[in-house]
Amino acid sequence: MTQSDTADTAGANTQPETIQGGCLCGQVSFQIENRFDKLLLCHCAQCRKTTGSAHASNLLGRAETLVFLEGADQVREFRHPERDFTKAFCSRCGGALPYVTGDGSTCIVPAGALNAEPEVAELDNIFSEEQPGWSEQVSAAPRHVGFGSVFD
Ligand SMILES: [Zn+2]
Ligand SMILES: [Zn+2]
Repeated sequence: MTQSDTADTAGANTQPETIQGGCLCGQVSFQIENRFDKLLLCHCAQCRKTTGSAHASNLLGRAETLVFLEGADQVREFRHPERDFTKAFCSRCGGALPYVTGDGSTCIVPAGALNAEPEVAELDNIFSEEQPGWSEQVSAAPRHVGFGSVFD
């Protein structure tokens, strides 16, 4: 390694590290600073409906660092008329995507949309009072590689 290589590396380290993600079909991709204050596992009925799963997994990121790399015009948003709830998704595959909150301060990033491991400060379960019984048992269920023998 030459001296200039060392200097370049040191310079790169002063830039905030970013992380990339995107939807399932690849039409939409984005990048955001890889520094998240919280990962919120939300058990509200709206998150359950929109994910079809036990809970949403939403990271709280810095809104000013979100950049759509491809397909920004293909992002759709659904805002619930009665509850403070928004879902952003790809117009083609329905894959979950990030959006900026109404006051512009926070970017909500679906953790499953990321392509790498996020740096998360804190993990919380929210709206736990809306969690159904089947969902409470999910983390204790047996674990299999691939499908295991569940279709035998
Ligand atoms: Zn897509
Ligand atoms: Zn929710």
